[in-house]
Amino acid sequence: MPNLPNPVAHVLPTSIPKPKSTPKPTPDTRWFGEPGIWQPPDIPGARIEYFTVSGSTQWELITSLNANSPKNPNGEIVGWGVAAWEHSGGTCYSPRTVDLPVDVVVTLPRWTPLPDGTVDQDLVTKWNALQQTIYVHEVGHVKIDIDDWTAAIDYIHQLSSCQAVINYIPTAEQKIRDDNDAYHARLKADCRPEIGCFPRGWLGW
Ligand SMILES: [Zn+2]
Repeated sequence: MPNLPNPVAHVLPTSIPKPKSTPKPTPDTRWFGEPGIWQPPDIPGARIEYFTVSGSTQWELITSLNANSPKNPNGEIVGWGVAAWEHSGGTCYSPRTVDLPVDVVVTLPRWTPLPDGTVDQDLVTKWNALQQTIYVHEVGHVKIDIDDWTAAIDYIHQLSSCQAVINYIPTAEQKIRDDNDAYHARLKADCRPEIGCFPRGWLGW
């Protein structure tokens, strides 16, 4: 069976108003490593890939996020974080034994400022909050992708022929897309950072 790429993007802001420059840190708020940069935990069933961002002000980080985040074929920003899934599989000899592993990749930003006092502690706090919200958002996609695909495979194993398997796969793929769309709709209706959604301009992002 063919490999079918199925990117599922998310909808974090892709265009935001230009923020005012962040003031330089005062002697009292210079960052020397505390608080630490939040490290995203492993995501069961998914692989995390990172793109690098740099900057010492929030505006520089936003500019870097937009410049370095994943783009679609038209060159448009997909999001500051992305979850994408792809399944592959070999020949179907019997529906009961067909194996269609799914590969889920989460792309997240990574910022590793030098703890030399050039960055304000407040920017690190804001970064950590942003990174955690993106992470929670993408974990939500991963759960949908894996749960749906697991259910699809269970269903496929009960089909009567390999042709039925082939015929069913587009339906299974569409369900994943629909469920991810519904996830976005739910977040849009109840947008809170702790559940993976933030309004434009939240904390200056
Ligand atoms: Zn999303």
